[in-house]
Amino acid sequence: MKIAIEELAGCSGCTIAVLDLHEMILDLVETAEIVYSPVIMDVKEPPEGIDIAFVTGAVRNEENQERLKVIRERAKVVVALGTCACYGGVSGLSMLSSNEELFRYVYQEVETVRPDGVIPTGVPPFLYRAFAVGDVVRVDYYITGCPPKEIFLKQIIPALIAGDTLELSRKSVCSECDRTMGKIEGWSLKRRFEGVPDREHCLLGQGYLCLGPVTFGRCGAACPKNNVPCHGCNGPSLDILREPCRDIYNMMVRRISDLTDRPAKEVEKEFHDVAHTMYAFTIGSMIMEDKENSKIRDLIKERGG
Ligand code: SF4
Ligand code: SF4
Ligand code: SF4
Repeated sequence: MKIAIEELAGCSGCTIAVLDLHEMILDLVETAEIVYSPVIMDVKEPPEGIDIAFVTGAVRNEENQERLKVIRERAKVVVALGTCACYGGVSGLSMLSSNEELFRYVYQEVETVRPDGVIPTGVPPFLYRAFAVGDVVRVDYYITGCPPKEIFLKQIIPALIAGDTLELSRKSVCSECDRTMGKIEGWSLKRRFEGVPDREHCLLGQGYLCLGPVTFGRCGAACPKNNVPCHGCNGPSLDILREPCRDIYNMMVRRISDLTDRPAKEVEKEFHDVAHTMYAFTIGSMIMEDKENSKIRDLIKERGG
């Protein structure tokens, strides 16, 4: 059994999440050989005859696209590992600026800028937009999470290697959260830094934009359990994925409207920076952009990407 881990436009955190399985890695390497992983070994090209290729990161430039096509050709099974690979992840946010603005910012404006301010010519050209891995090649399995949680990887990686099937939870973050709904009075949207939420009641009910209702679970509602609203790092919940008319934005508006008895139009006025608060992990996904009433198309147009 030969395994590869390819890195595209991401932070390598998903590969580190695999390494974070600690001693379980020792069991894995008894049955499987890691033949290619730019983060953990010095191998420049993926070999032929890979059994399972884990691909992390989004497709943002021509090199990402080329490497993805090569690994797809050389692997029997391709697994999109992490939310960047599954839905474009945070790389997708780069679509809110033009490619020229991005290059100018990175090479001439940030504090760590090159002193000569020269935009290098040898870097791979950007594609016109970000893509999820499944937008470019056929994907056999998706493992979401930014990065995927250890408890979940511990179940799925051995099962993949053994060729076993697994029955896993398909629930949303809300289904894994044990907060109760408190009294909803004078609801208004709060920023994360405003006040301190109480630890017992639903964060959304308290006015914090918690994306639990529209987010795929399997993280044990890690953020709400630590008094932080879910910001959607596991990607959309299954009902949103399945239903063409369901989108993160409209489902959140509907949920808040139901909760607060306020008309949807009024609720919508409360939102600021929809791109970063609702689509931070999914804006680069064609599945999400192609939805009938997706907000993503407007957001990209507005920001000039
Ligand atoms: S999904 Fe998150 S952890 Fe994984 S590569 Fe993308 S940004 Fe990094
Ligand atoms: S909206 Fe957030 S805080 Fe409320 S139940 Fe869902 S996950 Fe928990
Ligand atoms: S609660 Fe939301 S943001 Fe936090 S780990 Fe789970 S899916 Fe990610």
